[in-house]
Amino acid sequence: MAAVTADRSSVGAIPQLGHAVILLGPPGAGKGTQAQRIAARYHLPHLSTGDMFRDHIRRETELGKRAKPLMERGELVPDDLVLSMVEERIAQPDCRNGFVFDGFPRTLAQAGDLERICQKQKFGCTFVLHMVVEPTLLMRRLTGRRICKAGGHIYNIYDRPPKREGICDQDGSELIHRPDDTEGVISERLHAYEVQTRPLVEYYTVRKLLSPVDAMAQADDVTASIARILDGAQIPR
Ligand SMILES: [Zn+2]
Repeated sequence: MAAVTADRSSVGAIPQLGHAVILLGPPGAGKGTQAQRIAARYHLPHLSTGDMFRDHIRRETELGKRAKPLMERGELVPDDLVLSMVEERIAQPDCRNGFVFDGFPRTLAQAGDLERICQKQKFGCTFVLHMVVEPTLLMRRLTGRRICKAGGHIYNIYDRPPKREGICDQDGSELIHRPDDTEGVISERLHAYEVQTRPLVEYYTVRKLLSPVDAMAQADDVTASIARILDGAQIPR
């Protein structure tokens, strides 16, 4: 049987039952964690444009050569480059049953282009999970974050404090409050997110693709509510 279902890996193989799952939510909403869990549960690849760029740069592809100087200068990579990459990635055989996108699309233009790519490649319905969190709670999550200097272990002085203040439980090293985790910087980031994302929320609401998820609950409960939405939609597992 294994031979029958073995990956034929022919580029351009058309996925029949594919579902695009998109996670929309502000920084601190737990998108990364939930994306990983959804990917594992449904055996779907977890995609991020950052990983794609790093991969192209490492393989020194044409796209990678165009993207590298922009990324090194910290400039925005233009939409056409992002989309070429996304289109190529989604055409890979591991995406034929769908994929989980975290942090993309970010703009209305990207959402429209992603929709066209998905139609072209015969993907089924797109699920957009909107991770909803109160701004005050986000602020608490983000300003309370402390990171271990040695091992990158993450704590939160409000929700997940270390046993000894300022010290990592796991390796005893110092916990750092990063300069971009302060209230001023965070409130700017959240505002920028809000301005950028509001049109996307409307776009997907009009298309009846948006499912709100209460992302203020514990991570396991958030996973459970996402699973109810996707299982209800009969995504093949
Ligand atoms: Zn540590």
